[in-house]
Amino acid sequence: MKYVSLPHNQNTVGWPLPTKPPSTSSPLTGQIRADWAVIGAGYAGLAFARALAMLKPDLHIVVLDGASTAWDGSAGRNSGFIIGLPHNIGSSMAELKKAQTWRNLLQAGIDSLWEQVEANAISCDWESAGKYHCQVAEGNDAVLKTYRESLERIEEPYEELDCEALTQRLGSGFWHKGIFTPGTILVNPARLISGLAGALPKNVTLYYDTPALAMRTGKETQIFTPQGEVLAQQVMLATNALSPELMPGLFRRQASMATFASLTQPLTVQQMVKLPREMRSWGRTPVNAIAGATLRFTSDRRFLIRQHVIPALRGAVSSEQTRHAARLHRKLFSRMYPQLGGDVTLAKTWSGTISVTRNGAPLWGKVGRNIYTAAGCNGAGISRQTIAGELLAHYVMKQDHPLVGDMLAVGRANVLPPSPLLNAAVSVSLMKERWVGRKEA
Ligand SMILES: Cc1cc2nc3c(=O)[nH]c(=O)nc-3n(C[C@H](O)[C@H](O)[C@H](O)COP(=O)(O)OP(=O)(O)OC[C@H]3O[C@@H](n4cnc5c(N)ncnc54)[C@H](O)[C@@H]3O)c2cc1C
Repeated sequence: MKYVSLPHNQNTVGWPLPTKPPSTSSPLTGQIRADWAVIGAGYAGLAFARALAMLKPDLHIVVLDGASTAWDGSAGRNSGFIIGLPHNIGSSMAELKKAQTWRNLLQAGIDSLWEQVEANAISCDWESAGKYHCQVAEGNDAVLKTYRESLERIEEPYEELDCEALTQRLGSGFWHKGIFTPGTILVNPARLISGLAGALPKNVTLYYDTPALAMRTGKETQIFTPQGEVLAQQVMLATNALSPELMPGLFRRQASMATFASLTQPLTVQQMVKLPREMRSWGRTPVNAIAGATLRFTSDRRFLIRQHVIPALRGAVSSEQTRHAARLHRKLFSRMYPQLGGDVTLAKTWSGTISVTRNGAPLWGKVGRNIYTAAGCNGAGISRQTIAGELLAHYVMKQDHPLVGDMLAVGRANVLPPSPLLNAAVSVSLMKERWVGRKEA
């Protein structure tokens, strides 16, 4: 049997960590039985385990995660935008209809997360801040124009801002134009995922430091971990970008990529004087997600820069790749905020993996005998993977839920070419996006 070697991000997350980490059990040792084994404790895995446990309190559910802490996976490494609207809407009738379906799903994901944050007093800097979707290059107005028209068609409120208005709000004249939409929530994701992990129902047992190294399917599924084994009646694979490692045959529909984020030190009083006096926390997304940068100004006066996407089919990122990303982030930040004179230091740069599908649709539902999945996050998975996991629990238990139909309606990820063709296809598609968005940042 082939054992998975879990990839390693040779860096650690920079978000301020929870003051009180959740008390979870030590790594799994010995053999245990479970009604359900959930592999992966990100948003999809935790939402699935929680919803299933609440629907069926008599089930014994175990969750395994290879990471050593709640925040060490992408769930804690992301930029913390919980979006209620897809970044790209499109303009055809079919695209608009799909955007409305996604909007219902994403909003339900936000509502579900808020319910848990409130019920369990999860301290994660939850802010209903909205987001600025900005373009850099003058004369590149077509993308924002289409976005604005789509927002109008789906009757979504927005505010259009020129360079001067953006300068007043974001403290930089770097952007030519932008559209503000109010629905997005901003959080500290490391604290959010940690709080969610610590608030699971009693019939769920969560093991960190317990990678699933191999699975043998049959009447029961046998899951091998470094020091133990789970015999599960049913399995939910919530491993997102790393799913192909565990079940290569099943996942010909998503590619793994890595992207990088940096967080600055909190700005000093002298540095804050160079920014608008009334500037509060905000988030900005780029019109081109591959070439452009996501940017945040946080309530503790730091900037977050998320930029640079690379193919990472095996999920691993080296220290050199992280250093390269840090150099890019420093350079970009100096261009955006020249008034700060390049003296804002990056406290940390880190990476995380995302999964990307060809048509943007998810991988959701049954994928093998007694095996289910909710994967294919497409880079914006906090709300999306939360609702995908929650609805999957209803689906497998054949429990009615008004949104299961919406989840099925968004379609299924298209098949990708096999490796090594896939590697070449991913590189070419990244190059193409970088070229199309070369004037953006
Ligand atoms: C830098 C960065 C910025 C991002 N910014 C945003 C953002 O602002 N907003 C947003 O919505 N999304 C963002 N994302 C994407 C977001 O983080 C993901 O979409 C989301 O985490 C996916 O959730 P998930 O539960 O499907 O998978 P993950 O969160 O990736 O969870 C999968 C879990 O499975 C575990 N695992 C994998 N293989 C195994 C195995 N064999 N055995 C045991 N455990 C295993 C991993 O350790 C991991 O914890 C960003 C991602 C990155 C990297």
